Formats: sequence, structure tokens, C-alpha cells
Amino acid sequence: MKKLIEYTLQEHINALQAGEYSSVDLTNAYLERIAENDASVNAFVWIDAKGALEAAWASDERRRRGAALSQLDGIPYAVKDNLCVKGMRTTCASRILENYIAPYDATAVSRLRESGAVLLGKLNMDEFAMGSTGELSIFGATANPLHPALVSGGSSSGSAAAVAALEVPFALGSDTGGSVRQPAAFCGVVGLKPTYGAISRYGLIGFAPSFDCVGLLTRNAADAETVFSALVGKDPHDATTLDYPQQTPLLRHPLRIAVVKELLEGEGVSEEVRVSVQRAIHAFSKQGAEIQTISLPSPQIALAAYCVLSAVEASSNLARFDGIRYGRRSKNADTLFDLYANSRGEGFGMEVKRRILFGTCMLTEERRKIYLERAAYARNQIRERMEEIFSSFDLILNPTSPTGAFPRGSKQTPAERREADLCAVYANLAGNPALSVPFGTSAYGTPLGIQLTAAPCREALLLAAARILEEASHE
Ligand code: GLN
Repeated sequence: MKKLIEYTLQEHINALQAGEYSSVDLTNAYLERIAENDASVNAFVWIDAKGALEAAWASDERRRRGAALSQLDGIPYAVKDNLCVKGMRTTCASRILENYIAPYDATAVSRLRESGAVLLGKLNMDEFAMGSTGELSIFGATANPLHPALVSGGSSSGSAAAVAALEVPFALGSDTGGSVRQPAAFCGVVGLKPTYGAISRYGLIGFAPSFDCVGLLTRNAADAETVFSALVGKDPHDATTLDYPQQTPLLRHPLRIAVVKELLEGEGVSEEVRVSVQRAIHAFSKQGAEIQTISLPSPQIALAAYCVLSAVEASSNLARFDGIRYGRRSKNADTLFDLYANSRGEGFGMEVKRRILFGTCMLTEERRKIYLERAAYARNQIRERMEEIFSSFDLILNPTSPTGAFPRGSKQTPAERREADLCAVYANLAGNPALSVPFGTSAYGTPLGIQLTAAPCREALLLAAARILEEASHE
């Protein structure tokens, strides 16, 4: 018989509605799973068993009275440690915030609270969401639950790993340059980065606010749709949130799909990834889709623009962590300047420092013109090109990442590490929704990910198309 933790989100929803088990049963089942399994995965950095069981108990009470708050009432979940949860430690996996207790809930968290969902705890990540392997955390690396010698991907490492390890039916993460989609691909789960502004960023500790999106990780596309609909919508606390349109059209026939030449033939895209893309193309053609190869501005330009712009935003955004208002304060300082310098010096990890310095450097008078303005120009060009593509196509299809999950501890230069974001950054630069769906297998036997991108606010189309791939991958 199937164990409770093996059920998908939709199956839990049906079972809770039918009274097959209670939210307390379900919450206990996941807490037990975490207790016996997570030491080897290291997805969780904070577990709130007491709070979760109280919430589950309250949910069961509501159900008994016929007063369930939503279909998610009683469903356990967990969030990346850069989302604020009132009264809970929120660290961004950084020493600088190691003792920070958030005084309020992120909107994504409060919406789930209002839906009755049961928060189990906080999930591991690369420090301040900067990284692609899940190894840059003060809590230690997250292992790939499907193959513990491999990385989980990042920066939403714990979110992807927890879902893949059956420790939660869904999790929230954040995606600034691929951080939901890439770990989802490495761990074999679905990762959705919504349209910029579709889900409020209020309470998401910012990395690069013009890119940052709250994203979600689930076992399949149908579950992603359920969670997305609980989170989407305008929020007075976040002026960049959209008035999300009432449902947009679903799949049209024939579906018009663009395949990006540069992301298929480009250097660094592994052979097994190419094969999985070809198979995905075949799966769509069998359904009658029209497939065409198109061109985007070079991935190296997109990546460079992302690097410059995200680092510039990070450098100003992370200036607030000064040892005075938040988090760690150095004990080792006699002057105000030393207090700032030492608190930041002791508090931030190497990668975060590297980006702050790089971003600050890009903001200097002489570099502004050479790098920053050009990066902003490239971003606009990419945005315009994406708009043009979506005037004649429904979807763009490409790999989520140029490779599958690779061994932990691989020595990579910062530039090599960046290559992992190659396919992902277009959607962040332009603000489009994109998702990763597991498809194909690597030589390590772990899943690969196919990325689908759609026009803004076309999440429904994206998720419907993802289901075609899910069905094909079972064939
Ligand atoms: N790998 C990307 C980076 O390090 C991902 C960032 C993100 O999406 N948070 O910049």
C-alpha cells in the first residue's frame, strides 16, 4: 500500500476532503519522514513541529465543522529560508542573519496561512540565494535526494530536495536567475517561476528586486497550478504586483513552439541534455504542435547582463545589513566604520561578498557607462525580442540547465558556476513565467529538466503544456 508521504498534493486534498485521514495524521507522517530522512539530505534548517501540529489540529477542527478554509486546508508545506515567517528564524543561510527572528509573515506565507496550510519549517538555500549548487550555506550543503553524491542544485536547494525526498508535498522557493527551476531539474520535481509580479515579494528578503520572484516546487504540474492559484494576486504591500487577469486561454491547436537554437547547439550543453530536448520536441510534435527553431540574443550576453544587473541591485539592497539594524553585530570594533566593516566582513560569505564588491564596482562613475548601461540595454533588447517571439509562438522550449546534477564538491570557477544559469536567465531578464518539468535521464540516473517559457500571465498554458511532457515521460 502507498504510504501517506507518497501521495501527491491533489491526492492529499481528495483524501482530506473524503476524511480518509486527518491533517494531524498527515503532518505526523511528514514530520516522521523528516526525522528519519533529513539528516542525509539536509533540506530543513528549522522544523516547527509544535506549531505545525497545532495548525493541523485546528485544521481538523474546521473540517469537522464543515468550515475548511480552502482546498489546501491541513496540507503541510515548507518555505525557503529567505521568506519571512513571523516569530521564526529567517537567516537566508547567512551568518549575518543567523539570529534574526522575522517580526511579520511574507505575503506568500500569510496567504497560505489563510488557506489553512500547515507550515512545517524553513528550508536550506545558497546564502542570500546566490548560487546554483546548494553548497553555499552556513547550514552545510543539501544533498540530491536521488543521488547523495550529487548536488541538489540551487539556490532553492532545500525546497527542491524536500519535495523530491517526500518530506513535503510542496515548497516555496525564490527565483532570481533560475533558483527554482534549476534545482527542480536536478532533483526531478516541477519548479515554477511565475510572471514577475504575479506573486507578492513582500517578506521575501531581496537579492535583486527587479528579478526576484517567489516560486513553487511540486511533484507535478497539476499540483503547481493548485498552489499558484492560492498565491497569485495583487498585494498592497508590493507595488510591483500585477492585477492578474482572470483565466487566460489554455492550449490552442496547433501549439506553436519555438526552440532556441543557441540553447540547444551552444557550447556547454551536454549531449544527454540535447537528447532530452529532442525527445521533448518529438513528444510535442506527436500531439500536432508546430515546432520552429528561433534565435535569441546570445546566452553569453544574457548571462553577462544578468550578472551585472543582479550584482548592482544586490550591492545596494544588501547595504541594509550593517550590524546595526539587523542581525549579527561584530564584537570586534572601536569605531562606527569598524563596526560596519567587521559586521559585514564576518557576516557575509565569500560569494555574497564577491557580488557586493562586483556590483559596487559596476556602479562607479567610469564603469556605469561601459557595463551597467549596456547591461540595461541588453535587458531591453531581450525583453523586446521575447515579446516579438510570443506574438507568433505560444511557448519557448529549451533545457532548464546545460547539464544534469553534477558531483558535490566540484571545483568550479565563479564563471563556470555561472554557466548553470545560461538557459534560465532570459525569463528573469524579461519577466516571463517559466517552469522546469522532469524529462529524460542523465548518465547518473537522475532526471533532467525541460524548461518551458510563456508570455506574461500565461501560467495556465505553461502548466497545461507541462502535462503533455509529464504524460510523454511515462510512455
Ligand atoms: N544561480 C543564480 C545566481 O547565483 C541563481 C540566483 C537565483 O535565482 N536566486 O545568481
